[in-house]
Amino acid sequence: MGKRALITGITGQDGSYLAEHLLSLGYEVHGLVRRVAFEDPERRFSRIRHLLDRITLHPASLESYPSIFHVISRYEFDECYHLAAQSFVAESFADGFSTMSVNINGTHYVLAALRELQPRCRFYFAGSSEMFGNAVEAPQRETTPFHPRSPYGISKVAGFHLTRNYREAYGMFCCSGIAFNHEGPRRGFEFVTRKITNGVARIKAGLACEIRIGNLDAKRDWGHAADYVRAMHLMLQQPEPDDYVIATGETHSVKEFCEHAFAEVGLDYREYVKLDERLYRPAEIELLVGDASKARRVLGWEPTYTFKELIKEMVKTDLELVLKGVKDNASM
Ligand code: NDP
Repeated sequence: MGKRALITGITGQDGSYLAEHLLSLGYEVHGLVRRVAFEDPERRFSRIRHLLDRITLHPASLESYPSIFHVISRYEFDECYHLAAQSFVAESFADGFSTMSVNINGTHYVLAALRELQPRCRFYFAGSSEMFGNAVEAPQRETTPFHPRSPYGISKVAGFHLTRNYREAYGMFCCSGIAFNHEGPRRGFEFVTRKITNGVARIKAGLACEIRIGNLDAKRDWGHAADYVRAMHLMLQQPEPDDYVIATGETHSVKEFCEHAFAEVGLDYREYVKLDERLYRPAEIELLVGDASKARRVLGWEPTYTFKELIKEMVKTDLELVLKGVKDNASM
């Protein structure tokens, strides 16, 4: 019998890749989803539609301890990957209270329910490079002090410390990944990388003539989500729980991302990308780049996608999606 895993946030980008990965390893995969998702499966399950007959979904909300407790009381899980969160930094500035409440309490509820019902279940927390914020050093590693610059970053620092404290106070196997940005064709459309690749596809198809972007000079360490979920799984297979930076170690500006994405379809980004200062963050992070040497050494983890391969795959997929939409509309 394979292991049984619970994934919160299974409908999201990482949740869908992780579910695929765990299924390929013979796991029985369960997912925690919002009740509304069952009412609008076409849209809400778009990333896991191809997996629906192989996974078990449970309705629960990060805002309700009893709903999480109920799911965890029904099965014995070997591993729990807590990925659900309000994950968009800009939204956290718009509504910091909801982000803090969902991200901090949601994490606390999952940890508390596991402690009560299944203290031997191994736990992964989705920490973020946004916890480093205005970092005092580059590249950032596990020992770099946190200086978050958004309600989102602050909520992740709190989740990180909660996770560490459950490990130290109750001896539970709790790990945090401090994951730098990771993208892919399933990234939400509000995130800058997807906004760019979707914009490129729409411009190429003649459906749009520009993309509006905030800070083109912000530099990020961008990997592929399919690579990052392998690291999450590896963390929970170790003899001891620990925290790990997951990053490529390369940094590129938003401008470079635009340049490569437009070049994929033979266009010059300078003709289509318009600066919009309203899209600047109230407190920006200029540079994030991670040092994942601990993950490489201890977990044997390596990213497989290059920056250019990531962009190529995202543009290709968006172009196919946009052209399919144009064709479907024409035949209606
Ligand atoms: P997504 O935004 O794609 O997915 C977020 C998931 O959380 C969705 O399944 C969403 O459900 C669920 N969720 C949000 N709010 C609630 C709620 N109130 N109750 C229940 N479920 C909820 O994020 P990613 O897959 O990209 O990221 C996964 C995790 O990793 C997140 O915690 C994110 O903060 C973190 N992370 C991501 C990085 C990245 O670059 N992708 C970098 C570092 C950390 P629904 O579909 O119903 O909205």
